[in-house]
Amino acid sequence: MELLKHAPRLDRHAAIALGEHLYGIRAGASELPSERDQNFLLTTDRGEKFILKIANALELRPFLEAQNRLLTHLSVRLSFCPHVLSRVSGQTIETASADTGEVYLVRLLSYLPGVPLGNVKNPTSQLYRDLGSKLGQLSAALRDFDDSALHRDFHWDLAKGLNVLSEYAPLISDAGLRRFIDECTRKLASEKAHLWPKLRRSIIHGDANDYNILVSEVGEPNKQTITGLIDFGDLLHSFTVSELAVATAYAMLGKPDPLETAVVIAAGYLQHYSLTEDELKALWGLVLLRLCVSACMAARQQRQAPDNAYLAISQKAIVDSLPQLAAIEWEQAADCFLSALRDESELTKGTLAIRRRLLGRNLSVAYQHPLKIVRGSMQYLYGDDGREYLDAYNNVAHVGHCHPRVVRAAQQQIAQLNTNTRYLHDLINRYAERLTATLPPELSVCFFVNSGSEANELALRLARAHTNAHDLIVLDHAYHGNTTTLIDISPYKHDGPGGCGAPAWVHKAPLPDLYRGTYRSDDPLAAGRYAEAVSSVIADLQHRGIHLSAFIAESWPSVAGQIVLPSGYLGRVYAAVRSAGGLCIADEVQTGYGRVGTHFWGFESQQVVPDIVVLGKPIGNGHPIGAVITTPSIAASFDNGMEFFSTFGGNTVSCAIGLEVLNVVQDEDLQAHAFQVGEQMLARLRSLMNRHEVIGDVRGSGFFIGVELVRNRDTLEPAGGEANGIVNRLRDRGILIGTDGPFHNVLKIRPPMPFSAANAERLIEALEEAIGRVVL
Ligand code: PMP
Repeated sequence: MELLKHAPRLDRHAAIALGEHLYGIRAGASELPSERDQNFLLTTDRGEKFILKIANALELRPFLEAQNRLLTHLSVRLSFCPHVLSRVSGQTIETASADTGEVYLVRLLSYLPGVPLGNVKNPTSQLYRDLGSKLGQLSAALRDFDDSALHRDFHWDLAKGLNVLSEYAPLISDAGLRRFIDECTRKLASEKAHLWPKLRRSIIHGDANDYNILVSEVGEPNKQTITGLIDFGDLLHSFTVSELAVATAYAMLGKPDPLETAVVIAAGYLQHYSLTEDELKALWGLVLLRLCVSACMAARQQRQAPDNAYLAISQKAIVDSLPQLAAIEWEQAADCFLSALRDESELTKGTLAIRRRLLGRNLSVAYQHPLKIVRGSMQYLYGDDGREYLDAYNNVAHVGHCHPRVVRAAQQQIAQLNTNTRYLHDLINRYAERLTATLPPELSVCFFVNSGSEANELALRLARAHTNAHDLIVLDHAYHGNTTTLIDISPYKHDGPGGCGAPAWVHKAPLPDLYRGTYRSDDPLAAGRYAEAVSSVIADLQHRGIHLSAFIAESWPSVAGQIVLPSGYLGRVYAAVRSAGGLCIADEVQTGYGRVGTHFWGFESQQVVPDIVVLGKPIGNGHPIGAVITTPSIAASFDNGMEFFSTFGGNTVSCAIGLEVLNVVQDEDLQAHAFQVGEQMLARLRSLMNRHEVIGDVRGSGFFIGVELVRNRDTLEPAGGEANGIVNRLRDRGILIGTDGPFHNVLKIRPPMPFSAANAERLIEALEEAIGRVVL
């Protein structure tokens, strides 16, 4: 009640003025329903819509700040939650004062289309499944999110729900409802003791009732989907399964068979987020607990405001459903939920569940509906159900999955001999000879290892041995591998979740991103300006008396978002690094072997010659081979008395495979093929860009392509949720691509090299369909 007294009561004109003064938006305003806050829909002349949220005067700033952090976290992962908009300053909370002297915190959120689920007549079971699926996605997205401000004492927290029942149930006048609550209380007390201690906890939305869920406004009921989840005012750290319990409690009210609806929602949820058996056993009790808490809170409020008709209505819906609810045995409900878990595809039940139990949880699985792939052939992969997938993603299978020539070479050699570099063998010599023949003459000494990471590790050792220096310059957002040292030099990892920043010896230079970076494609001097930024890092090191060991960069930064470096950039940077005594390392793990079409090696497109080249992924076509190639003088510095040996590096089978991959690349003229099909694909993507606002940029060369999605072409607000939705839609249509970039909003297209012109057409056509579906 106290909250209601402090609810803001601004009029439309005040909302219009706030939109204009705080956010520079000229728009009309109409008020949306809210009890404790005030929400206005702002609509500009051009039809753009925003939600202006004016918080209750009692709302605490740290809580709203935590809400904003959560929404920002979700905005790159999901497309159905609002995102927080800010002024250029980045400030996401503003203030407004009323004539009464009260001060309100104000925020601007993006608008989500749709009508409340509560207003939809006869929602289909497909829609309820989608509701479950969206909540499962939400739980998955919040798994790695936490915020101390959301660990709070809150009367809607089901973990404390029994206290609410014991305090307020006596206020309930309906005898049937009272009996039902007492019965639930008795059973829940036992579950609290035996089951609840085993439930996982995480941050939850906590109030997915049918007025906080939006549904698409389409005529045909079968095409309706959930478009939005709103009102994050009940965020809370509590039982993870409560997310599902709350939504289920409201969705099943008034249904002829409430348990059937509950099971449909749970099945959708389990597609995206796996619950434990204990959580599923506790689910029904928590669903009923939410209804009991709701009835009790309404009784409490009703005592304070006897005339409030809304409170009576919400109790009535529960009372009306009592006969059906009371008829459901709790054990029966638990069995139904458990069998939904068992039914949830062979894959979730079997392979995924076993993997989750036996393998580290931070091994990620691609796609909302994970794929179980059992066979590959050239640019196609095949699922365990026999379905064919067009692979536009896996650059590792460079000459094609299971290319017959490569398979044959491997089979023949493994039947003959597989041993290490301590013995002489012609294959390793021939492979080194052929590999170095593709490179500039200076790069003539090879080292073989087993992965891109090992190769980069070795490259750093070579550079340190040659320069007697330790410090390194890297590009922002780069990834160079998974070892301890390489995490240290990979901002993509050490600046991301779970990372702890760069160590003192690693110096970051800005990513020369002509679309989103400080200097953009309209600046003819961008290459020089970005190179200048590296020179300033060098100048700073020199000023501090620090020697530079090397500069390392991908010649076409991939993980950073399929970036095309401005022409002339590496030439300037290499010159500056060398004049400071440092070496230049080109990480070609992603882009070598003709992928970029115009050149065999990525660095050639920048007209530079590195001192050390690092190879991985494609050179073994899936077999683990890494290589470092350098100059005789750097190799001589490394030959300082300490033996270099890698047990498996350069083994006979790997050399046979590596050699055959190179043969195939050359015999099948795959570089020219990538150029030709890549040009066609880029042209088609650029024409898509003219038709779809969400495509902000199309870039790349050959089979190294990035399509950057944005919600606004002026602000470049990343469309991460949309990118994720598109990738999953394509997967469902049998085409595999991925996302990349710091905001996960760049569609990454880098197929195996046999990818054909017809494959490209199919990809483009499906992409356009997915954009139409996902971007509303
Ligand atoms: N460098 C780059 C540019 C990479 O993309 C990767 C892998 N994604 C690596 C190095 C590490 O290679 P690996 O996973 O084989 O160790």
